[in-house]
Amino acid sequence: MDGQEAVCLPKLSRVAVCGGTHGNELSGVYLVKEMMKSRKEEDNESGSQPVLVLSNPRATKKCLRYTEVDLNRCFSRDALNSPLLDIAPYEVLRSRELDALLGPKGSPYSVDLVCDLHNTTSNMGLCFIAYSDSDWISMHIFKHLKRCMPDIPMRYIHFDLPQDESYSLDSVGKHGFAMEIGPQPHGVVRSNIYTTMKCGVQHMLDWIHLFNSGRVFEGGFVDVFTLVKHLDYPRDCSTLDIIAAIHPQLQDRDFCLLNPGDPLFQTFSGETMPYNGTESLHPFFINECAYYEKGIALSLSRLRRVKIPAVCATSEQHAVIVT
Ligand SMILES: [Zn+2]
Repeated sequence: MDGQEAVCLPKLSRVAVCGGTHGNELSGVYLVKEMMKSRKEEDNESGSQPVLVLSNPRATKKCLRYTEVDLNRCFSRDALNSPLLDIAPYEVLRSRELDALLGPKGSPYSVDLVCDLHNTTSNMGLCFIAYSDSDWISMHIFKHLKRCMPDIPMRYIHFDLPQDESYSLDSVGKHGFAMEIGPQPHGVVRSNIYTTMKCGVQHMLDWIHLFNSGRVFEGGFVDVFTLVKHLDYPRDCSTLDIIAAIHPQLQDRDFCLLNPGDPLFQTFSGETMPYNGTESLHPFFINECAYYEKGIALSLSRLRRVKIPAVCATSEQHAVIVT
């Protein structure tokens, strides 16, 4: 413990593992279904099992990302609290059901942690995507996975938004993150990606079990990639058609350092378009299939190292500091 004071945090008694928030991201869909199946077979519940959720069953049945609107953009405070129209899209109705099941978001009744499973077509390995760079629980789980799965490239991505504006399903829990794994085409399940997700979820549940049983976890450092901005594809100004693809030297190189002047796009006539920003940044979600409709060719992030404290679970309701 090297004399470090541990931060004591409430136990994680209610944990949710969600898949199929995007119905065509199949590792999460099949992993949650598999976990549901093995639970039925076990029948003697220990009481510490996670809540398992198939978030968007209608889109999952059709193997679509969503049926009407993107479910994973429906969980901001405004979106959850705006009056419901008679003709509300299915996903808007579903977001209210999920908020009732796992939330209400921001209330003392919300589940302690939501792990929402996603796939990306980008070459990102296993990523945590979270809204906080000081959520010691999520960061300790991330650190634990990194130690347990040393062969898997792993990064912690931080979307710097206040909780009210955080819009994804994982924001409904007191702690939460998306576990995003790729590359895997949407509508496809690849066994290596599925297995990585399964191991990731298992190690997460193991960590939670150890934490709840009183284990003290040492502090350390987590490298955090904070989103700076999204870049769209170059477009024809009259038709809005894209006129270039990601440059071959950048494709699949998520989290490399992109310096000003480096090749960014290659036009369909073969010319290189360089990155004309002034700051070297780390790209991710490079050429993600689902983001063409959102006008995102890639996202750029700034990397920094965050020191995290030792943590342990409070034995009582009130936090006490132990050393
Ligand atoms: Zn997704």
